[in-house]
Amino acid sequence: MRHFDYIIAGGGCSGRSLAVRMLPYLKATNKQVLIVDKVSKKDNDKTWCFWEKYPDIFDPVVYRKWDRLSFSSSIINQEFNIQPYQYKMIRAADFYAYTDEQLVGTNQITHIIGNIEDLYTKEKLAYVVIDGEIFSCDYAFSSIPQIQKKRPERYQYLLQHFLGWVIETEEPTFDPECATLMDFNTSQQEGSSFVYILPLDPRSALIEYTVFSERELSIECYAAALKKYITEQLHCKQYTIKAKEYGVIPMSDHPIERQNRNIIYIGTAGGCTKGSTGYTFRFIQKQTAAIVKELLKSGHPCISVVYPERFNTYDGIFLYLLNSGRLSGEKIFSTMFQKNSPNQILKFLDNETSILEEIKLFNTLHKKEFAISLLKRTLKLLKTG
Ligand SMILES: Cc1cc2nc3c(=O)[nH]c(=O)nc-3n(C[C@H](O)[C@H](O)[C@H](O)COP(=O)(O)OP(=O)(O)OC[C@H]3O[C@@H](n4cnc5c(N)ncnc54)[C@H](O)[C@@H]3O)c2cc1C
Repeated sequence: MRHFDYIIAGGGCSGRSLAVRMLPYLKATNKQVLIVDKVSKKDNDKTWCFWEKYPDIFDPVVYRKWDRLSFSSSIINQEFNIQPYQYKMIRAADFYAYTDEQLVGTNQITHIIGNIEDLYTKEKLAYVVIDGEIFSCDYAFSSIPQIQKKRPERYQYLLQHFLGWVIETEEPTFDPECATLMDFNTSQQEGSSFVYILPLDPRSALIEYTVFSERELSIECYAAALKKYITEQLHCKQYTIKAKEYGVIPMSDHPIERQNRNIIYIGTAGGCTKGSTGYTFRFIQKQTAAIVKELLKSGHPCISVVYPERFNTYDGIFLYLLNSGRLSGEKIFSTMFQKNSPNQILKFLDNETSILEEIKLFNTLHKKEFAISLLKRTLKLLKTG
């Protein structure tokens, strides 16, 4: 049986982020790492967007960045300067190529393609079964999706699902300096839905139709909504679809197991997907940086909590409001953007605000609805505990 110091199970966003961040630690030690994924990642299967104040390690592959964002709905229509934040876009294909390049230079990393069939711990080691072969390690970091038995009587479950098109228009249509974070000028019949626009230049953009609801739609439904938005809101009749992106991101307040002895869960599997927004990339960066910091400090990758637990409660309340139909996403986000500075909102959505800042922000929202939902959600948790 082959033994490694660490096995990174899943070489997607979090697995690769962790591996690249571990490089200085590996250089200082003789540790050996195995990265396993069932596919060799080359395709541009995702576009990651996030906001941050300072450049991080993946800045060399930031494809576009914006200092301005817009938010629109039937209630408000605003454009914001978000500095000192910048909204950044990374294409998955660039990220995979860049991380391959970073990781290839060391003989301490072995990368294999294989299907992980099992992952377990016994005594002091973790074991990973890959295509029938067992590998052992001191610690395994897994981003393989965790199967959870749903408990709808206790927790909220929604999906954020979307279809995006990169389109090229005949006429200049987009302001390349300003990305559209949310435009709720869409039919709200399928759930809370909005369009998200990442302008690449005046004649091309990635436009995504996104819905928060219990179930995905048929591809035809997303396509019809995109076509309607492009013709009616952007007043654009002639365009070519250059690329497509489809995705489903779970939105839930179901607690996630972050560590099982020497198996540490990372990425979406490790609770990095924010329940209320689906944003994950920045949380992955914070989580993997915290793991490596701990490795450098103590030699053990103990999982660090990267934000206080109360933010999960806020996400739970938001999901409860949407699930119960008490408030729509359009109303909540419109009020938030109408009455708070964009920087404060981004800081809050990053789980980085202080309690005082959160009280100020909640004071501007639908207090009665939030209080009822907090109460109902708490009762639900107590009843099913
Ligand atoms: C289309 C799309 C767009 C997104 N856009 C954004 C965004 O703009 N901003 C943001 O913050 N978040 C975004 N997300 C959410 C999140 O950032 C991504 O899902 C991110 O890839 C999660 O990283 P991860 O490492 O947890 O999972 P992944 O990147 O999916 O990595 C998991 C890896 O495990 C491998 N794997 C799974 N099962 C096995 C197995 N049995 N054996 C071997 N390997 C296996 C997979 O092949 C995969 O490579 C998006 C998600 C999607 C789907």
